[in-house]
Amino acid sequence: MKRLAVLGALGVSGLAAVGVTAQGLPGITEIEQVNGNVYKIWGAGGNTTVFVRENDVVLIDTKLPNSGEQILAEVRKVTDLPIGMIINTHSHPDHMGSNNELSGDGVEVVAHVNSERRMEAEGGPFGVSEVDRSFSNYMEIGDGADRIELYYFGAGHTDGDAFVVFPEDRTMAAGDIYAWHMSPLIDPGSGGSMLALPTTLTAAVYGIDGVDHVIQGHGDVSTWEEFHSFMNFNRALVQTAEQTLQQGGDERQALAALDRNPGFQIFLGTEVLPGLEYGGSPKSRALINLMVAFAELRGEEAPLIMGLPQEEWPE
Ligand SMILES: [Zn+2]
Repeated sequence: MKRLAVLGALGVSGLAAVGVTAQGLPGITEIEQVNGNVYKIWGAGGNTTVFVRENDVVLIDTKLPNSGEQILAEVRKVTDLPIGMIINTHSHPDHMGSNNELSGDGVEVVAHVNSERRMEAEGGPFGVSEVDRSFSNYMEIGDGADRIELYYFGAGHTDGDAFVVFPEDRTMAAGDIYAWHMSPLIDPGSGGSMLALPTTLTAAVYGIDGVDHVIQGHGDVSTWEEFHSFMNFNRALVQTAEQTLQQGGDERQALAALDRNPGFQIFLGTEVLPGLEYGGSPKSRALINLMVAFAELRGEEAPLIMGLPQEEWPE
């Protein structure tokens, strides 16, 4: 357990490192259409989703700081309409870093109440980002083709993870509770919880209707079926952690048990995904999240583990 303690001590500086490491990676790429009026811009932090409404544009997440100009340049390739609203899926700096560059006159900033509290907190390394409108469990914005639905189902990656749905275009921006189609980074310092994650994901899978395209917080666009299988994997991960701990086993034994299910292989890959900013291979993230689950089950303070040293990655 010595290793857990050391990695846990990374704390806030670990999250700050997301910004540092991402600077060495490919930046913003060409805007791409997801479906209908929904587009996505990859790189320089999390995905930015672009939703073109009748009279303006809504941005979901704004990447790392200093990305505002480039985001705007990509938006201009598909529309001349002004930015009217920014919705943040959560409070991490690689998702709201350029809010202040893009939120000038009349631009409304929207987030979950728990994310609002963190974004407006003084004294953080990333400065204050004002939120104009927040929601607790559900909120609708606009109607017809412009309609946006915001859902919150509980903790996971943080305790402020919003699911943003564009019903007319059957598309959802999931934020980092679903990134890279691998078990997500859990940030206990921002209220994230591995034990809560399966319940939150299950509520999302059964509580949201009519979505075909799921935009990951980082990475690609998945189908609803892939999102459903991601829920199954995370449910199994926590269940396996509980059973293994009861039997006196450890995290690597739990990982071996998960590995025996052929349906889970995509979540247990041993290669680093191209463009991944943090966290190693999918399999090393599964091991990390078993460590987090074990800590939570033991009633210990769960650590933030951004990644394991490569020599400790499971094969
Ligand atoms: Zn995040």
